[in-house]
Amino acid sequence: MNRRTFLHTLGAGAVFGRHGDIPLSPPQHSSRDSKPEKRNAPVSLKNWAWMRGDIKSMDDWRRKLAAMRAAGIEAILIGGGADFYRTAIPAARLEGLEVHAWIFTMMRGEHVKTHPEWYAVSRRGDSTAEKPPYVDYYRFMCPARDEVKQYLAGYVRGLAQIDGLAGVHLDYIRYPDVILPVALWPKYNLVQDKEYPEFDYCYCRVCRDRFKRQAGVDPLELPNPPGHAAWLRYRYDTINEMVRLLAEEAQAQKKLVTAAVFPTPAIARALVRQDWVRWPVNAVLPMVYQAFYKEEVAWIERATREGVSALGGRMPLYTGLYVPDLTPDALGSAVDCALAGGAQGISLFQGNTLTAAHWEAFTAAIKRSGKSGGA
Ligand SMILES: [Zn+2]
Repeated sequence: MNRRTFLHTLGAGAVFGRHGDIPLSPPQHSSRDSKPEKRNAPVSLKNWAWMRGDIKSMDDWRRKLAAMRAAGIEAILIGGGADFYRTAIPAARLEGLEVHAWIFTMMRGEHVKTHPEWYAVSRRGDSTAEKPPYVDYYRFMCPARDEVKQYLAGYVRGLAQIDGLAGVHLDYIRYPDVILPVALWPKYNLVQDKEYPEFDYCYCRVCRDRFKRQAGVDPLELPNPPGHAAWLRYRYDTINEMVRLLAEEAQAQKKLVTAAVFPTPAIARALVRQDWVRWPVNAVLPMVYQAFYKEEVAWIERATREGVSALGGRMPLYTGLYVPDLTPDALGSAVDCALAGGAQGISLFQGNTLTAAHWEAFTAAIKRSGKSGGA
């Protein structure tokens, strides 16, 4: 597994999207027909692709985008700086594609030297600034710190001010994995049958003090931290609060906010403290990557349905599929499963790497769903 694959499968994502079918204000009481039992209701699909920002030439970029648009993709999620977006967005819009800025939200190493105190600390006492878990770039900031909040809010504000950008896509909006997806355990020689201290975050001074003020106890003194409901809730709430802050920044500039999240609400809470059902974003893109959980393609339908049901129509859910683990035929089946589970579209990881046979299978599956995709 290469670095980018590892990055994404542990929670990365980027998106471009079209305005119009996602409500711009945080959708609290929408009654959209997104429940799986309402399968006969008319549904307009929207399909997305995570992309790498490797524009070789403008002609090459336009050709790629045109092919993706023809295959039924409407929005691309792509990382880059302001200069990149100023070039990429006008070309994408000419091809009818939305561009969303894909960011790695909490996992970012740029202040390891300048502000090591901003980084999350494990229950064992190690900071990700000095001793990150799993891999050397797994340097997560602590979401509870005011300086981190201000820094990330400013970063999102800067992106949201870019003309023509459709949205900001939050990836790695979470804590480090306290438990990795089960298929990755052998790669790291791990058996994560419970929460171990070296993977459990964040026990920095700020988090310990904040929790002690709330609950009257230092989390380091809890006899069983993984079993302590209020301490778990503190972590969910701290990420929820970061999402709210960043969503407000983007939405103030009339930009959509979407998030790459773990595959189901239960898995997301258990592995990375994401309580995404409560997030005030415009859409979620769960990474329903069956092979990482040793599941079959059929699981994609069940996992999608869990998310859609939990959301209760408050926002659309677009099922993320990991194409490197899918043959063209399996990709077609995966799309069928996601749509049967109530997804309002698909997001492909990653748009640059699909073979012609994969695109063909994808387009055919969208077509046979009878739902208007890529309009
Ligand atoms: Zn902390």
